[in-house]
Amino acid sequence: MAATIIDGKAFAARVRASVAAHVARMKEESGITPGLAVVLVGQDPASEVYVRAKGKATLEAGMNSYEHKLPAETSEADLLALIGRLNADPAVNGILVQLPLPKHLNSDLVINTIDPAKDVDGFHISNVGLLGTGQKAMVPCTPLGCLMMLRDHLGSLAGMDAVVVGRSNIVGKPMAQLLLGDSCTVTIAHSRTKDLAAVCRRADILVAAVGRPEMITGEMVKPGATVIDVGINRIERDGKQVLVGDVDFASTAAVAGAITPVPGGVGPMTIACLLANTVTACARANGLAEPEGLTA
Ligand code: NDP
Repeated sequence: MAATIIDGKAFAARVRASVAAHVARMKEESGITPGLAVVLVGQDPASEVYVRAKGKATLEAGMNSYEHKLPAETSEADLLALIGRLNADPAVNGILVQLPLPKHLNSDLVINTIDPAKDVDGFHISNVGLLGTGQKAMVPCTPLGCLMMLRDHLGSLAGMDAVVVGRSNIVGKPMAQLLLGDSCTVTIAHSRTKDLAAVCRRADILVAAVGRPEMITGEMVKPGATVIDVGINRIERDGKQVLVGDVDFASTAAVAGAITPVPGGVGPMTIACLLANTVTACARANGLAEPEGLTA
């Protein structure tokens, strides 16, 4: 039986509409417009594309967007001073520093200088700790998007066996924490895991966040499992550049119960969750009602 395709593009559009509706209500009831500041240092072409997309989506949701583009040679002191000003600015509810930063800048120091309440990427050490201890945190956007899609598709996740392949700080680890928070039995696999195929075959929920094109194949998947493919890999196929995930779509879709495609799966959810986090941060900062269904 062919797997159901989980349409991340359509789901992200629903999340964005829900954010926009909440923003409109906020403006009407309290006169407050949420604001997101995005900081880009240098001219990495991929980062410029992401920053443009984030700014456009922020405006489309009815929020204010503040873009700070700094030259590649910006000093750490100048960058930290800008973050200090954004931390103090009540019009700014979310601050995102686009990664990677140029090598002379200490990313950990920069991220940990952001006010945790405005850390809409959820990378600040305080938010990592809050998530790890089951407290209210700002949650990293990509894993939050995956969780929303899983809840939407499966309902309660309690008691399910979940396997997350990848243990990065931005995807794998927070994804595992979120699944644990929803009472899954969680295994985290990585490059040193023995017999990865056998580990993956135990999963009712399989999340691939590896960065290796089409590494997860159908024979590694339990029949009926829900497969979330976080990977974004550019490869050449038949002389053309194509985008593929970490999951081999054809062989996996023949076995799984449901699967996210690449493109059009997890990717669109990441920006939608950034918007969701910004409106959540604004609500918390101003003592207003938090949007429903947009947080972990
Ligand atoms: P990282 O490179 O930081 O982490 C990759 C993880 O995969 C590591 O934990 C690594 O293990 C593990 N790994 C590598 N090779 C193997 C293997 N052969 N078997 C099992 N595990 C392995 O990547 P990210 O987490 O940042 O990103 C993962 C993927 O998700 C990438 O394709 C990235 O482009 C994509 N991505 C997509 C986003 C979206 O919006 N859709 C957002 C962020 C990322 P070890 O720790 O042992 O080295």
